[in-house]
Amino acid sequence: MLDYAKFIAQSISTERLDRYLRHFTAEPHVASSPRNNELAQFVYDEWTSFGLEDVRKAEYDVLLSFPERIVVEVVAPEKVKLTIKEDSYPQDPDTMRIDVGLPYNAYSASGEVTAPVVYANSGNPQDFDFLEKNGVDLKGKIALVRYSEPYSYRGFKAQTAQLRGLAALLIYSDPKDDGSARGPVFPDGPWGPISHIQRGGIPFDFIYPGDPLTPGWASIPGAKRLSPEESRTVPTIISIPISARDALPILRMMSGPQAPKEWAGALPVTYRLGGDSPRVHIDIKMDNSPRKIINVIGCIRGGENPEQAVLVGNHRDAWIFGGLDPSSGTACLMELARAFGEAKKAGFRPRRSIYFANWDAEEFTLTGSTEWGEENRDWLEKGLVAYLNVDSSAAGQEFNVSAVPSLSRVILAALRDVTDPASGKTVYDRWKAGPKKKGTIATASGSGQINPIGSGSDHTVFLNHICAPALDMSFSGDYGVYHSIYDDYYWMTHFGDPRMRYTKALDEIWARIAIGLASSPFVPLDYETYAVELKIYLDEWAKRFNPSQKRLSKLTGLVEEMRKAAAGINPVLFGAGAELTAEKRRDANRLLVEIERDFALPEGIPNRNWFKHIVFGTRSTYAALLLPELTEAAEAGNEHGVTVAITHLEEAVSKVVSKLRTITGLLTQAGT
Ligand SMILES: [Zn+2]
Repeated sequence: MLDYAKFIAQSISTERLDRYLRHFTAEPHVASSPRNNELAQFVYDEWTSFGLEDVRKAEYDVLLSFPERIVVEVVAPEKVKLTIKEDSYPQDPDTMRIDVGLPYNAYSASGEVTAPVVYANSGNPQDFDFLEKNGVDLKGKIALVRYSEPYSYRGFKAQTAQLRGLAALLIYSDPKDDGSARGPVFPDGPWGPISHIQRGGIPFDFIYPGDPLTPGWASIPGAKRLSPEESRTVPTIISIPISARDALPILRMMSGPQAPKEWAGALPVTYRLGGDSPRVHIDIKMDNSPRKIINVIGCIRGGENPEQAVLVGNHRDAWIFGGLDPSSGTACLMELARAFGEAKKAGFRPRRSIYFANWDAEEFTLTGSTEWGEENRDWLEKGLVAYLNVDSSAAGQEFNVSAVPSLSRVILAALRDVTDPASGKTVYDRWKAGPKKKGTIATASGSGQINPIGSGSDHTVFLNHICAPALDMSFSGDYGVYHSIYDDYYWMTHFGDPRMRYTKALDEIWARIAIGLASSPFVPLDYETYAVELKIYLDEWAKRFNPSQKRLSKLTGLVEEMRKAAAGINPVLFGAGAELTAEKRRDANRLLVEIERDFALPEGIPNRNWFKHIVFGTRSTYAALLLPELTEAAEAGNEHGVTVAITHLEEAVSKVVSKLRTITGLLTQAGT
């Protein structure tokens, strides 16, 4: 039989990746725009021509958000009107276009306010605490905050400002974070120039992502819909992203005491806390209304277990041109689908189905993937082997992956088979030699740097709501133009991945992981590493919260049983195989695929019950949160909650152990 992983790897071409990248970045293509819908048709036509099966468009009517008018001006002590515009550079004609729209925060409230400005560093709760402690009144003021350091998701900043009673939020990109203080700026380097503006949604999607009007169910015709006022995820505060250049006059006129050293950015001003001056006038009118979005789905049906599916996905919609985010990933997905189509023509038929998904409206609130996941919940809960996400392909040469531990072996195997373009070593060797980061997943073989997976892209519904194994990966590098007009073809071809070599490498990794999961006789999910990781998470939790000795003893005992049972079957799953009747192999594989779902809490995590996974969760800031139910109960000092959470984990791990033992039974009956 042909080695199809190799066949596909050899079929992937950097020239075609470049052509796809140019096509997808040629024009702005925000969700619901005519151009983005045209691109959906293009994806549909291409996938059909590649020979993918069951190619279809999955459409939803969802609440999106666009600006009609944005005015921000300093009215005192001097009058300065902010530009709210990014500079053009003749060497990159894309930046000269006038149809790029106003930079904005999706789901901002509409309104008009004139008020004094306070400077609140990153806009996190401790920043506002500090201001209040220093006698800075927040009620009715406008907060000016930086995007990062310490980083938090902009929707979390909006929620925090809203809860503290501020009237509006201005979020700017300080050169210290992603501009000239980091290195050469666009168009001479990869960092953001002084005028760059980071657009982005601010819904509270850490409560639930997807259409704000249909929490937990799909936005299909006839579906029940909340009003925007009933939704828990639509902010009531005004929020506008601005550039460092526009922030400068505000900071220069800022009154009040000097800000702490750590709050100072890299602009040539003394950063002050603010108080009565300057006064800023904001007038913003948003059009938050339902619009049609289009996902494109296609597949290669499995020859043995078509009801089990490996899903690979990337989003198509971009804030503007989407050079790195997401069109580099879209090019990757297109070339992957084409190469799989070629393999299919040469006779390739995976045991399990491989689904390809091109999502829409990710930039708003992970909308397209979430609605599709909710619509297809029933079969995904039974049959989803894993979801493999690529949002952006390559901003540099450093391989990054976040995943659940069960995927670690199949990831490592793929990395060992792909060459790192610059060094000529395998991606695995270069990645392993890199600095070991704290908190990364220790694989059973003791190496590797897989990050525990948080939120922030389309894997969220599959991991946190459906509770299936998931990963998100990319090659990273210096990148300071996120969600600005400069994230375009010029940026990708000059700084991100000039010859598309790393995008190709990522495609090869993607293909190998997908084939490993879809075509191995036994589904290669590693529950030994999962148990090792669980033990680490519990130890860390215990170190932090000091529970009485016996509180975790039953649970850690179960985790050890899980480890042993998994260690017993791993040699069969990852090498030796077993002579089994087709029926027994099918039963073993069905159980392997269902195991991750044992970590699903049907009623969901307290306070945000759309999120059901009790091992992997996410903070409102988007940071990964391990053991979310247990950790949050302990953080709140809720003893009863801790007991309940431990019981939930015990029940989950018991179910896993019993499945692993059933699998052991099936495997040891080999030949009988
Ligand atoms: Zn993206």
